[in-house]
Amino acid sequence: MTSGTVRVRFAPSPTGFLHVGGLRTALFNFLFARNTGGKFILRIEDTDRARYVEGAVQNLINTLKWSGLDYDEGPDAPGNYGPYVQSERLDIYRKHVDVLLEKGTAYRCFCTPERLESMRKEQEKKKLQPKYDRTCLRLSAKEIEDNIAAGKPFVVRLKVPDGETIRFSDIVRGDVEFMSERVDDQVLLKSDSFPTYHLANVVDDHLMEISHVIRGEEWLSSTPKHVLLYEAFGWKLPKFAHLPLLLNPDKSKLSKRQGDVAVEDYRDKGYLKEALVNFIALLGWNPGDDREIFSLEELGKGFSLEKVNKSGAVFNVEKLNWLNFQHLRRKPDGNVLSMLKDHLAKTGIGSTRYSDAYLLEVIAAMRERVSFIKDFTEKSPYFFLPPNEYDPAVVKKRWKPQSAEYLKKLGDEFLKLENPQKQDYENALHRTAESLNVGNSELIHPLRLAVSGMGEGPGLFDIVSVIGKEETITRINSAIERIK
Ligand code: GLU
Repeated sequence: MTSGTVRVRFAPSPTGFLHVGGLRTALFNFLFARNTGGKFILRIEDTDRARYVEGAVQNLINTLKWSGLDYDEGPDAPGNYGPYVQSERLDIYRKHVDVLLEKGTAYRCFCTPERLESMRKEQEKKKLQPKYDRTCLRLSAKEIEDNIAAGKPFVVRLKVPDGETIRFSDIVRGDVEFMSERVDDQVLLKSDSFPTYHLANVVDDHLMEISHVIRGEEWLSSTPKHVLLYEAFGWKLPKFAHLPLLLNPDKSKLSKRQGDVAVEDYRDKGYLKEALVNFIALLGWNPGDDREIFSLEELGKGFSLEKVNKSGAVFNVEKLNWLNFQHLRRKPDGNVLSMLKDHLAKTGIGSTRYSDAYLLEVIAAMRERVSFIKDFTEKSPYFFLPPNEYDPAVVKKRWKPQSAEYLKKLGDEFLKLENPQKQDYENALHRTAESLNVGNSELIHPLRLAVSGMGEGPGLFDIVSVIGKEETITRINSAIERIK
């Protein structure tokens, strides 16, 4: 390895969607590479044919790209260490297994699945740790040769040394130790000649000159097996960093049962990538001060593995919603406009019915009140359509027997206005209230109900000036007729 060059990888097994935990792993690798001037690599670990899902790789790549985590090398970004898809590297693994067999640090195992099953049951009965009993380690060279000649299927297992303490140091967790007695003679090559995760992962990390293995804590128990493999090959260990588990608010392991776990679900629900990435970055990483809102670039500047915590990180959707609000607020009007138009087209309201100038006024009125683009139509549908009903609780509280008469007068006053601005509507309302000898609120509340159907929202005169004079008067007349 070129000393000092950081090379990190995200090595997902394509299961059909990108888990938020996977995005966190990808993000921390990406940020670490950004922070150190290193390279970020995408490697697809698809050697488990039983879990193969059509289209999963492309979906994964699309989701990563949506998140903005650009990689320097990967299946569609050629580098000097390819191929970056494990199913295209099968020869490499087979050759490496031969090296281990040659060295005597791995052995062929001809045990049938039935034998292994009965062995496991026996161990269970005796309350022993389930572990391969090394029957095939004792085969003579002749027996092995005969078995091969007879075409008996076999797997290749790692010969785990006896009585050793396997040690490695982890950037997040400090010094870690495992007793070799606890480690099974791991299968490296399956009977279909496909490598297992352990073999392919270690061979590739070595050949791709990965300097830091940054992955979720669920892989920590695999690491002693990997350390033994590095030793068996005589290779230098990479540095390890195991990221804390993601937890539900009740501190159980993050699961689908308590909410969405696929990045695609969050994207489809209208979360901004900026908010999701910001939120995910704070799952286990602590910036060291009280800042909470970061762009991807700011994250890259501030990130360090030393500031990653050991304890589990709680996935709190309320915080994510708040971050979405914050990031949406920071978006330039032009961006919000184009997202709003897309949304209007999708909801069937249609994006062409309104001028950009009109929509920009809606955006200005609602900016501080929306966390999601969909809030424009959900919280303030009255900018797009007249109210089709009036909130009964508000009618009960705010609509009085005289309200219809007062609003009629107000409508007449509005009618006289020429090219009115926001302040003109307000003045007209004050004049009307004065002439009726009532407080302004006797007009304000019924007017809000008439134009919006609701009891709250942005400034009333903002709504009125956005929808305009004609529309306001039409809505006043319609309320007078319909509210009883
Ligand atoms: N293929 C493993 C996964 O699906 C990779 C684990 C690792 O990073 O070593 O997450």
